[in-house]
Amino acid sequence: MKPDIEKTRAYYSSLGPENICDCAYCQNYCVRVKEAYPEVALYLAALGVDIEKPFETLPLEPDENGYLEYCVCQYIVFGSCPEDFTYRIGDVTFGRSDCHPNTKIDEEHFVLDFYPIRLPFEEPKSEVIQR
Ligand SMILES: [Zn+2]
Repeated sequence: MKPDIEKTRAYYSSLGPENICDCAYCQNYCVRVKEAYPEVALYLAALGVDIEKPFETLPLEPDENGYLEYCVCQYIVFGSCPEDFTYRIGDVTFGRSDCHPNTKIDEEHFVLDFYPIRLPFEEPKSEVIQR
């Protein structure tokens, strides 16, 4: 992998809350993932990626124990990456995504994905739903 770390870091620092999906599952992910997966957060940070600003996450349904599994989490990285790139941290497997929404970015970049991520999930408070 040949990430452009400076460009990636600048991109993530330019992303505001309005760029992050505001659904309950994504918000739950952003709030909890760094604490639950510190080594994954560190690995992403070394690439210039802010783990709290995912490009896309694909959550399953919360299970009966109050846990929610995200079967894939995707992040934009500037630079290049071979198609067969793979990396592991514990149970989490990283790869280069070939299936993701249009990034609308013209410069050389790729989408890094990893799975699975499993986090506690709390239903949003009722006042949030009624907003
Ligand atoms: Zn979402």
